[in-house]
Amino acid sequence: MSWKIWSLKKSPWVFHVNTGACNNCDIEIVNLLTPKFDVERFGIKLVGSPRHADALLVTGVVTRQAAPRLQEVYRQTSKPCVVFAIGACACDKGIFHNGYHVVGPVDKIIKEIDPNAIIAYVPGCPPKPEAMISGVVKALSTL
Ligand code: SF4
Repeated sequence: MSWKIWSLKKSPWVFHVNTGACNNCDIEIVNLLTPKFDVERFGIKLVGSPRHADALLVTGVVTRQAAPRLQEVYRQTSKPCVVFAIGACACDKGIFHNGYHVVGPVDKIIKEIDPNAIIAYVPGCPPKPEAMISGVVKALSTL
C-alpha cells in the first residue's frame, strides 16, 4: 500500500466545493464538521486548499460556470483523490436535471479530465451527516 493510500485511509483531509448547490447540503457538511459528530477523531479534517486535500466533498448540480472551476480544483489535488458527490444534485442532478444551466453531474465533469477518477456517491436531499460518515468509511475501505 502506498503512503498516499495509507494516509487517505487513516486521515482523509477534505476540501469542500459548491458547484451550484442550494446550500442545504453545505449546511449538512458544516454540521458534519462540528463537535457534535467530531469527525476529527477519524482524522477527517477540512482544509483551505485543494493542494492539501485527499478528498473533495462536492455539492450541487455543476453549473456551466462551475464546471471548469471544479475541474481546476480537482487538477490541484494530489492523486489519488476521492471525489465525494454529496447529495442528489451532485450524484445525478436531482430536481434540477432539466435546468438550462446544468452541465453535471459531478462524475461526468471529473471523468472528462480523469477517466480513472475515484467517485463515491452519498445520495439524499440533503444527506444527513451520518450518511456522509458512512459513505466516507465505505469508500475508503474499498481502496
Ligand atoms: S441535493 Fe437537495 S439539499 Fe442538496 S443541493 Fe440539491 S436540492 Fe439542495
